[in-house]
Amino acid sequence: ELKRLRESANLEATTTDGHHVELFGNIGKSKDAKHALTMGAQGIGLYRTEFLYMENDELPTEDVQFEEYKKVAEDMQGQPVIIRTMDIGGDKELKCLDLPSEMNPFLGYRAIRISLNRPDIFKVQLRALLRASSFGDIHIMYPMIASVEEVKQANAMLEECKAELTAEGKEFNKDIKVGIMIEVPAAAVISPILAKYVDFFSIGTNDLCQYTLAVDRMNESIGSLYQPLHPGVLRLIKHVIDASHEQGKFTGMCGELASDPVATMILLGLGLDEFSMTASSIPLIKKILRSVSKAECEEVANKALSMDTAEEITEYAKSVLAEKG
Ligand code: PEP
Ligand code: MG
Repeated sequence: ELKRLRESANLEATTTDGHHVELFGNIGKSKDAKHALTMGAQGIGLYRTEFLYMENDELPTEDVQFEEYKKVAEDMQGQPVIIRTMDIGGDKELKCLDLPSEMNPFLGYRAIRISLNRPDIFKVQLRALLRASSFGDIHIMYPMIASVEEVKQANAMLEECKAELTAEGKEFNKDIKVGIMIEVPAAAVISPILAKYVDFFSIGTNDLCQYTLAVDRMNESIGSLYQPLHPGVLRLIKHVIDASHEQGKFTGMCGELASDPVATMILLGLGLDEFSMTASSIPLIKKILRSVSKAECEEVANKALSMDTAEEITEYAKSVLAEKG
């Protein structure tokens, strides 16, 4: 079994008609990068940095963060590592920061909203990320972006950090790529505008689905309404991918949908460039990607988009997958 895993880990995620996609791993801790590699990840599509903030009673220092990010960059041996700036608040509680409890935490003070309000915290992380960028192919990603202003403000702080580091004589990758999560419906809708300001998108379907369908992702009593293949969600995904491609940018996906085998052919057909998921899901998704053609998946995606309900789309996607064996 281990031998099979090793063999498949070295295989490319390329379709039968020669279309290559990036198959990346999601990690929450720096030490998980090696495991992702073993499972066949060819990069990290989402490094959730909030654990650094959740674990301790004190905010992580620049040096602590630098060491963590550097380790992942080095372990991934030059392959892309997309590091998301802290996505705290919402369901993620903190000991090191006293956040008010809220009526609607998922709609509240969280993620980039905290970062932009607390440059004293955010700039520490940005400086650590920049410094680590000279040890690998680090990309920076901002969570919960809803507007162009947020991207501009975050980038302005990033520029300040670059200027500081330059003045201090510290090294960093001057061409570091900066992207955003697409997980707020408004961001998906204005993705043609946002694409002008970023290098890439990564679709966070966990939140995008929750916000688009107005279905709490944690509430089991309405679990059946949480439908990532809802025609509304699917249209947003297509819109985002198309918007990025029109401007020569790429779109990945790091929400759970990226690891759902039922969705793989549809997502590939829509033109998704990068699939990022928990390491254990990589071998199965790679197997599917290697057994289909991009052309047939485009047909599947078009057919799915012509359907009226999530249930129809899901049944259809299951049946084409079953045909593949
Ligand atoms: C998402 O929302 O899909 C996502 C990947 O981010 P998280 O699950 O950390 O909110
Ligand atoms: Mg999210």
